[in-house]
Amino acid sequence: MIKQAIPKDYCLSCVGCCRFSEQDSVWLPCLLNEETQELLKKNFPPLLISQEKKIHSLPNPKHNNFVCSFFQLKDNKCAIYAFRPFECRIYPFLINRKADKVFLAVDLRCTFVKENLENQKFKEYIRYLNNFFNSPARIKILKNNPQIIQIYKDVLNLAELNL
Ligand code: SF4
Ligand code: SF4
Repeated sequence: MIKQAIPKDYCLSCVGCCRFSEQDSVWLPCLLNEETQELLKKNFPPLLISQEKKIHSLPNPKHNNFVCSFFQLKDNKCAIYAFRPFECRIYPFLINRKADKVFLAVDLRCTFVKENLENQKFKEYIRYLNNFFNSPARIKILKNNPQIIQIYKDVLNLAELNL
């Protein structure tokens, strides 16, 4: 179980996550292989998942953007929160590829990150996450799931991962 950096209540009052400016945004959650199987076993329609193992987005009827297929507009919550994808659990952190290197990175657009990047407690969390990802078990997960290593813009690379 991965420790969370941001209090749940903070995120519930924010409109930053689960919404995307483009239908095929790189920011759409990408599933680990086992997560794809889990969702299919729970009888979620395969059509919700793309060939690249990304959850599809839907047009947002309230705004000129798109939302994750599992996002509930009525209460701002995730319909699969208890078993949401690994990528959603680690956000605003992500795995970023730059040239031939792979980094633990953070999305600088997240409000909580903007407010806390220089905060000591947040820096301790970054050290925790760096150790978490550089463990042999997590490196193996990343090697087995190259789809979650993507190229993102506007992120801050925090530490290189030893892939
Ligand atoms: S953008 Fe940051 S603060 Fe806002 S919901 Fe997402 S993780 Fe939480
Ligand atoms: S799976 Fe849940 S947490 Fe992840 S983007 Fe979709 S609605 Fe948000």
